Amino acid sequence: MKESPNEIVPEGAAKVLLHTCCAPCSGAIIEWMMQAGITPVIYYCNPNIYPLEEYLVRKGECSRYARSLGLQIVDADYDHAAWLHCIKGLESEPERGARCLECFRMRLLSAARYASENGFKVFTSTLGSSRWKRHDQIVEAGLWAASQFSGLTFWQRNWRQGGLQERRSAIIREQDFYNQRYCGCEFSMETMRDDKKHARQRIKRVIGVMTPEQKTAQSRAVWERLEQTDIFRSSTDILIYWSMDDEVQTPSFIEKWHAVKRFYLPSVQGNTLVVKRYTGSRMLTQGEQFGIPEPEGEAVSDLSPITLVVVPGRAFDKQGHRLGRGRGFYDRLLPLLPHAVKAGACFDCQKLPSVPTDENDIKMDFII
Ligand code: SF4
Repeated sequence: MKESPNEIVPEGAAKVLLHTCCAPCSGAIIEWMMQAGITPVIYYCNPNIYPLEEYLVRKGECSRYARSLGLQIVDADYDHAAWLHCIKGLESEPERGARCLECFRMRLLSAARYASENGFKVFTSTLGSSRWKRHDQIVEAGLWAASQFSGLTFWQRNWRQGGLQERRSAIIREQDFYNQRYCGCEFSMETMRDDKKHARQRIKRVIGVMTPEQKTAQSRAVWERLEQTDIFRSSTDILIYWSMDDEVQTPSFIEKWHAVKRFYLPSVQGNTLVVKRYTGSRMLTQGEQFGIPEPEGEAVSDLSPITLVVVPGRAFDKQGHRLGRGRGFYDRLLPLLPHAVKAGACFDCQKLPSVPTDENDIKMDFII
C-alpha cells in the first residue's frame, strides 16, 4: 500500500515540521510518518478559518488527535484580520483560484519561518491531502516559502497517493473527527452544501466551543440591535423564548423590559407549542418534555395583540430561512401569528450563506 519511506523521505526529515490544516487531512499523513519512524511536530496555523468558533473546533480536533499520539503541537496565532489583508482584492476569486494561492503562501510562510527558527530542515503540509485543493498551488507556495530561508526544504510529496486517501477516510470514521463542510474562509462558505442533519451537527459543535462570556457578549449585542428597530419600539406584546444554554440568552433581556412590554413564552403541549403570558421568572416551572422553564397558567387564546415574535433556531441565512432543531414546533406555531413580524435570534456562527430548508419551513422577516 505504501511507498518505501527511504525512497522519498528527504534528507534531514527525521525531524519534520508538519503544517496541519485540520484533523481529517492530518490523520493518514501522521500515521504514515510515524510508521516510517518520523515523529512530526504539528504546526497549527490557519488564520483563514472563519468564524472564530469554527477555527476553535478544528483546532480542538487537531489538538485532541496530536495529544492522543503524544505529539507536540505548536499553536500559531489566529489573526483573521491579517489574513483578510493578505487576500485583499481576491475575495471574489473562485475556490482553487488566486485567493487560495495567497492563502497557502501566508500559512506556509509562517510554517517555514517557525521551522527555520527552530532547527527544522524539512517542513511539509497536510493541505495537499484534500482533493478540493490544487496540489500544484500547494507545491508552488511551499517551495516559495522554503526559498525565503536558507537550508530549508519543502517536502512536496503528494499525500493523496500510496493508499493515504483511503486511510484518510477510514481514520475520520475511526476517530469520529469533526469533518468540516467548507474549506475554511467566509468566501468558501458560499459553496457549502449542508443537509439539515449535517448543519445541525456542525452548529452544535461550533456553539459547543463558545465560552459563557462569549455567549453573554454576543447575546447582549443581539438585544442591542433589536432595541434599535422600529418594530421592537412599537411592539407592546412580544412572543419570545426562555433560552437554553446553546441559544442567545433571553432572561436578562426579558427582565430589563418586563415592566414596559408584555412578554409571552412558548409552552410545549404534546406535539405543539402553546403561548402563555410571562408574569415574572418566579412564576416559571420546568417544562415536562425538555425541562425548559415555562409560565404556569392557561394558554393565551387570542394571539392577535402579538406584533413581534423572536424565534430561536440552529441556523439562519440572509434570506431569512431558518433551520430549527428538527421537531417542527415553530413551523406549527408561527402560522397562528400571520401578522406578527418574525425575528430570528442567533449567535454570529449561526448565520450561514444558505440554510437547507423545505416547504414547511417558515421564513423570518429579519435576522437580528
Ligand atoms: S477557499 Fe480555502 S484555500 Fe481558498 S482562500 Fe478560502 S480558506 Fe484559503
